[in-house]
Amino acid sequence: MSNGWIGVDLDATLAEYTGWKGEKHVGAPVPAMLQRVKDWIAEGKTVKIMTARVSARDPEELSYNVSIIQDWCVANGLPRLEVTCRKDYAMIELWDDRCKQVVPNTWESLEDKTAKLEAELASVKGSSGSMGWDKTAKTLFYSGHRF
Ligand SMILES: [Mg+2]
Repeated sequence: MSNGWIGVDLDATLAEYTGWKGEKHVGAPVPAMLQRVKDWIAEGKTVKIMTARVSARDPEELSYNVSIIQDWCVANGLPRLEVTCRKDYAMIELWDDRCKQVVPNTWESLEDKTAKLEAELASVKGSSGSMGWDKTAKTLFYSGHRF
């Protein structure tokens, strides 16, 4: 694997979140996401928990919050993953319930772009229904559409 790391948000991404219940509470794991993280680790990938829970500036509070999250990791079959709230140049992906992915070098969200392309494809081919970004883009490309 490359030298990069994958950031995984905690609340509502790796752990269920139904509202703030204090720093001591971390929700139950989201099974499919937990398995995904375990698979990445088994493949030798570096995973870090990316969460605002460690944005505190007070060193004691920061250390306390990190330990709660790392204890949660261990309790759920993960190693004591690094916990951060900082993006750096080595971050290759971020999985987060609040993220909006943009089409690189544009202002447009990938979600909006996909919807537009699907609508365009439907008008060209008379098809309907979501196929997702990859299939929609490939279908349009191979039918002569140029982006
Ligand atoms: Mg979240």
